Amino acid sequence: MDGFKERKRYNSFVGYFRERYGERLQKIVVDAGFTCPNRDGAISRGGCTYCDNRAFHPSYSSPDKSIAEQIAEGIVFHRVRYRNATRFLAYFQPYSNTYSSLERLKEVYSEALSVPSVKGIVLGTRPDCVDERKLDYLAALKDGKEGFLDENGNPPVVIIEYGIESCLDRTLARINRGHDFATACRAVEMTAERGIDCGAHFIFGLPGESREDMLGYAAKINALPVLSAKFHQLQIVRGTRMEREFSEKREDFVTFTLDEYLDFFVDFLERLRPDLYIERFAGEVPPRFVNETPWGLVRNAELLRMLDRRLEERNTFQGALAEIS
Ligand code: SF4
Repeated sequence: MDGFKERKRYNSFVGYFRERYGERLQKIVVDAGFTCPNRDGAISRGGCTYCDNRAFHPSYSSPDKSIAEQIAEGIVFHRVRYRNATRFLAYFQPYSNTYSSLERLKEVYSEALSVPSVKGIVLGTRPDCVDERKLDYLAALKDGKEGFLDENGNPPVVIIEYGIESCLDRTLARINRGHDFATACRAVEMTAERGIDCGAHFIFGLPGESREDMLGYAAKINALPVLSAKFHQLQIVRGTRMEREFSEKREDFVTFTLDEYLDFFVDFLERLRPDLYIERFAGEVPPRFVNETPWGLVRNAELLRMLDRRLEERNTFQGALAEIS
């Protein structure tokens, strides 16, 4: 169990930036007005069955404003909560933020990196929205070959976060993701080969998956060269196709009480490799968007304390049962 920070029993992402870059970096969400091939008709028009990007949009971020304006307003918005933060990462979160021509992407990322307090970019995207040219450019950016060096001559931080969601192709088809797991593996590998830090996002409780199926993700994630991962329980967003499916075929969904989810996640953590950073373990869709809040209104900080307590009670830790090839 040695090696985890702050006497945690898992590898928490909190503090990672300070450790790696010597300073705290706060993410500010930016909406550059990109869309998604699963919505604009390139793959489909329906989108993933659970998708409603409004649920992830802070009030200050809107494509009607310039990126610099969104960042300035985001810094003010977060000032109370993150008083000590002086440097920021522009977090391109809504939709697919590598889904455009390379020229357009360069313009957008450059605009963010030209804001003096912005130290880097985090790009949320789909695994099928990257290619060699885009990744080569992002690798050059993080190596400082495109400029944007800070006052100490350090290059910008560049992180790509891939929405992978499930490791099972039958689930990816059922939720209309429009890509398979092999595509996700390829994107992650191409990214890591270039030395670009890479995160991944997964959902627990998608239709047709058993608890064992979900625990089985761990071995697949362990084999991927990802730095960090975010997990959350499925939250049914109002007005989505998933909401209809959930009401019609509830028996196809494994749902978790909070207590069950804590135990499930501890079982899952035991199977994960210990060097994978855990950036999030439970969801945070604002209550006004979801069809029900089975856990009540529990704040993220409280959830994290509960996870710490459950690991302690069970006297276990991340990686206790990991099979690492
Ligand atoms: S890839 Fe993302 S933005 Fe596109 S439909 Fe799916 S969840 Fe929505």
